[in-house]
Amino acid sequence: MKLKIGLTFLAGFAACAALLVLLAATWSPTKGVPESEQDVYYPGSEDLKPDEMRIVALGTGMPTARPKQAAACWLVELGNGDKFLFDLGSGCHERIAAQKIPYDYLDKVFIGHLHVDHMGDLPTFWLGGTTMNRLTPLRVWGPSGGTPEYGTKHALDLMEKMYVWDIATRSGVIDFRGGELEVHEFPFDGVNKVIYDENGVVIRSIPAVHGLDGAVSFILEWNGLKFVYGSDTIPNKWFVEHAKGADVAIPECFLPPTLLVTKQGFAPMEALMVGTQGHTSPEQFGKVMSLVKPRLAVGYHFFNDFDTAPEVRDRVRKTYDGPLDLALDYMVWNVTKDDIRVRMSAIDEEVWPSPPLKKKNAPDTSKSIAFSKFTISGVIAMSEVVGPIFDEINEKYGTNIEPIFK
Ligand SMILES: [Zn+2]
Ligand SMILES: [Zn+2]
Repeated sequence: MKLKIGLTFLAGFAACAALLVLLAATWSPTKGVPESEQDVYYPGSEDLKPDEMRIVALGTGMPTARPKQAAACWLVELGNGDKFLFDLGSGCHERIAAQKIPYDYLDKVFIGHLHVDHMGDLPTFWLGGTTMNRLTPLRVWGPSGGTPEYGTKHALDLMEKMYVWDIATRSGVIDFRGGELEVHEFPFDGVNKVIYDENGVVIRSIPAVHGLDGAVSFILEWNGLKFVYGSDTIPNKWFVEHAKGADVAIPECFLPPTLLVTKQGFAPMEALMVGTQGHTSPEQFGKVMSLVKPRLAVGYHFFNDFDTAPEVRDRVRKTYDGPLDLALDYMVWNVTKDDIRVRMSAIDEEVWPSPPLKKKNAPDTSKSIAFSKFTISGVIAMSEVVGPIFDEINEKYGTNIEPIFK
């Protein structure tokens, strides 16, 4: 017996010594903090491992705007190099830019439904993206509607028409390949139907119950990992059935009706209807997660503050006792088969565009539209001021460019 205790003690002592050696090996007074010890994620600074998925919350809020939380937007980055954006809600574009990812890598967007808090920043991401050095067409997937005019294709056709002035000012002046829009509309009522299958990544859609016919949720599978994103929906049989086996499930978890009344000024009737019949309350979210049993449940789509989070969490816990995160913008999850690591990001407020990944072509001047004689009549050319600016650039870069207005 004594010998056994002695051996156990020795084994424990050896393990502690090994741990101390390990710590001593990874920390140093002159080196940076080891990556595995970083409590914060710094966008653009971390390699993705070949078997790893990184999920970044870029919009976790509501249609009501606030600086702390943009409306719905989620980035999924995979170890094979593919990146996907799910929803592009109002206010999310600056958060996308803060990821310091070249825009040519951000060419795949999946829109769950056509509410402005899920697609309001699509125009800024699409056309603004041409000034962020995107030279690859933007590909957008979205559901059909009950009739064609409620579908994604119709909405994006109108968006292109709406921004005809913007397009006309850019397309003849810069390399405008990044302004091309490729729209993939798929039937909203497809149940677990494949809508994307490239490079080992499969994305399926399931119908959602929200607003009108024409809302969906998405399931992404790659390398044995499963990501499920609800967009907006009340609890439904398709989500409960097909989200099963998710590594990370992100359905909506709306503000409870109590807080819609006290914090948002809703009438009781509005709060109950919107909070439970149009959206998913925390208790309903919890019940759905109890049925799906993901490795990690993430709730989003509520204003997550010191005074709201405890109530939301308490209400979720009435119906779900599994792993749970309540999302905030810039929260990051690194997901592998063995581990799910969650951190907050540190954001560089002074971010600039990443450099272009392709050589830029000369603009297609056939697309440039001339000013009228009237507008030109107002120009003050300032040749003595502008000439030296042209000379400076021409000398530095060996070009021979002349001003339009002389
Ligand atoms: Zn919605
Ligand atoms: Zn929404």
